[in-house]
Amino acid sequence: MRNSKKIDHALLKLNNRLEILRVLRESGPMSRNELKEKTGLSWGTITAFIKELMDMRVVVETGKESSRLGRKPVGIDLDTSSRFILAMRVGGSYVKTMVMDIKGTVRGELKAAIKPDDPGRTILREAMETSLGLLKNNRIPLSRLAGIGFTAPGAIDSEAGVCLYSPRHPRWKDVPVRSLVEKRFEAPCFVDHASYCSALGEQWFGSARDKRNFLSVPIGNGISVGIIIDGRVYRGHDHMAGEFGHSCIDPAGELCVCGRRGCIEEYVSGRALARQAERLFAGKRRATRPLSDPEGKPGGEALFLAAKAGDSAAARILERMGSCLGIGLSNLINILNPEAIIISGGVSKAHEFFRPALERALEKHAWHFSSREIMVSKLEDPVLLGAAGIVMSKIFVEGLLFEKFRNGGNSL
Ligand SMILES: [Zn+2]
Repeated sequence: MRNSKKIDHALLKLNNRLEILRVLRESGPMSRNELKEKTGLSWGTITAFIKELMDMRVVVETGKESSRLGRKPVGIDLDTSSRFILAMRVGGSYVKTMVMDIKGTVRGELKAAIKPDDPGRTILREAMETSLGLLKNNRIPLSRLAGIGFTAPGAIDSEAGVCLYSPRHPRWKDVPVRSLVEKRFEAPCFVDHASYCSALGEQWFGSARDKRNFLSVPIGNGISVGIIIDGRVYRGHDHMAGEFGHSCIDPAGELCVCGRRGCIEEYVSGRALARQAERLFAGKRRATRPLSDPEGKPGGEALFLAAKAGDSAAARILERMGSCLGIGLSNLINILNPEAIIISGGVSKAHEFFRPALERALEKHAWHFSSREIMVSKLEDPVLLGAAGIVMSKIFVEGLLFEKFRNGGNSL
């Protein structure tokens, strides 16, 4: 009985501290008085907590200067110089890394090319070296890292922090990302799938800050869905939910990288568009010179540029893609009834060309009583931001900075 009372008290303390952090993150800096009003906590609690949080260098005093009318009230804010969040993203042919302070201001980003055929550990090493370079450029020592978020496509065991499989990287198998990153950086690392991260990116930094039920559909060389239900990520029984790209829209269709036929990814992704661009531009003199990828092939972007320059064949391909995407999104709407679906990634930039066909498909196939709002992400890279979002959730929702509480201690 005594024990449970002690735990309740510790939990209450944690929740009060998290409330202070939340208010400061959303609207700091502010005076202790304003903080008291916004959190509803007592004056004694506020002053005691602020002192503890200042000792921990989680919050800092600002605006100390005196004015002619007397001393200005001292503002309190999150300390944006003492702790940072590192995010790493492994894409098909690149790694990207980003560092932000705990208020969510991005301090720097770095991208490096990788060889997709390299062993998983080599690719991970590239990601870590790129991150170390980024931290060095921004003069942030490892000891200042509050946490690291890591994301990749494929199959991920987020509890163990292991990347099991990646369709883009044939030699990426059972990579113990969390243990290797934690060993190198000496900071807690959290590993999650790219689709979940895209949803977290929208939830923390994008168009879904006020949404409790929404879907995020990143469309790059692959396509997947991040599902948020009642404000929380839905992972499924085996943590495999979200493989939207491998839902079938034509059983006799194109062969997919997963070995099955007719997956939507073969009709909607950047990879599918690049294949069609190759066919379209092969041996033909067209009005527009196609943009080429590093291998000299016209990529999906070439279609977009050609359509923009008035190439009707290119525009038709994008339109067909819009119809397929519309069918896929209609299925998601019919099953999950989200408030909105946010599409992102390179392919979403061509939305002016595929949107009308997408809307027609929604009109035909989506349940008429359901919301059918499709938004285009405002974020440059919601997946990478979402990797940082994992750490934001750990800090501001789960209390990562108050480790002693989680280990059973009660000093904070
Ligand atoms: Zn497939």
